[in-house]
Amino acid sequence: FAMGGSTENSAYGPTKNPHSLFRVSGGSSGGSVAAVAYHGCLAALGSDTGGSVREPSSFCGVVGLKPTYGSVSRHGLMAMGSSLDVIGPIAKTVEDAEIIFNVIKGNDPMDSTTLSDSLINNSKKENSSPNDQNSSSQISSTKKMTIGVVPELMNKGGIDPEVLKNFNENVEALKKAGHNIVEVSLPNISYSLAIYYILMPAEVSSNMARFDGMKFGSRVEGDNLLGDYVNTRGELLGKEVRRRIILGTYVLSSGYADEYYYKAQEVRKLIALDFKNAFEKVDAIITPTAPMPAFKLGEKSNDPLQMYLADIFTVTANLAGSPAISVPSGKVTITDPDGSIANLPLGIQITAPHCREDILFTLGKEIEGKL
Ligand code: GLN
Repeated sequence: FAMGGSTENSAYGPTKNPHSLFRVSGGSSGGSVAAVAYHGCLAALGSDTGGSVREPSSFCGVVGLKPTYGSVSRHGLMAMGSSLDVIGPIAKTVEDAEIIFNVIKGNDPMDSTTLSDSLINNSKKENSSPNDQNSSSQISSTKKMTIGVVPELMNKGGIDPEVLKNFNENVEALKKAGHNIVEVSLPNISYSLAIYYILMPAEVSSNMARFDGMKFGSRVEGDNLLGDYVNTRGELLGKEVRRRIILGTYVLSSGYADEYYYKAQEVRKLIALDFKNAFEKVDAIITPTAPMPAFKLGEKSNDPLQMYLADIFTVTANLAGSPAISVPSGKVTITDPDGSIANLPLGIQITAPHCREDILFTLGKEIEGKL
């Protein structure tokens, strides 16, 4: 059901990281990402509700794109958080991700939340980049961009020192390549993880209601109708799924909805506005994709809050609907418990205005070329 950032909640067991079998592949699309990383396939698709394409891509050293909300049909996708979910490609290069995105994007009459094709394809004209001389032209790879770094996210602490070092090296490299790096404020961004973990469970609790063992899904019989529901949902749904259903039901329940769900909706609007304002000043925003490299299997499974913190940089794009990409940005060498040396990949995340995936591809290719 696409929950969690480590693929340890999978009904089929955890997916190990191809770069170190002691470590998680990230999640929730860790299986698809690991398959691409160990060259089991050329590319894969994943759904990204709060980072499930980008975070595992960062942990396994591949490219993961979360497209603009509404630019790819979700017809046939199992819904997690309907206002956040989007399908995106996982690939070995930015160019491959771009090719796949161009194939899967577009309006679909079977998914009424998809945007019009003119928005998806021609928005470069409507939504010009602040530093574009000629807004209708595609940004060429030689064009110098203004790239924002967010102090509210970077100065907060909690980021692994190796991740921070690698991020700063990439910032320097982008500067050297002629791009203009500026600080850009997203005043409400520090609420994003809390907001995500209110809105997402609310939507999960509603989307998961169909798995009642009656019309949908398997059934574990009880003594009566209520017993059927209780047994089915209690026994067949995993712990993380049940946790989110309970959390979501709580924040939506009468008496608490105003305090949590509706308040979170208001703050979400402010976060989206923060991004809109920031993109008046910059072409793109960069952050690390995750605050740490791939962690050890079991390291966070008993501490949901620690697990949720891994999503600090990724949930923002889902809340704002913006496109974001994770591109491999370097490696960190670690010693595994058996004494072997592993080179764990790190990722850099680029976020752009709605329907400006072209900016992600241009900058992503540049970052890719430097390594
Ligand atoms: N780690 C996030 C979560 O657990 C990502 C989920 C997703 O994008 N499907 O909610």
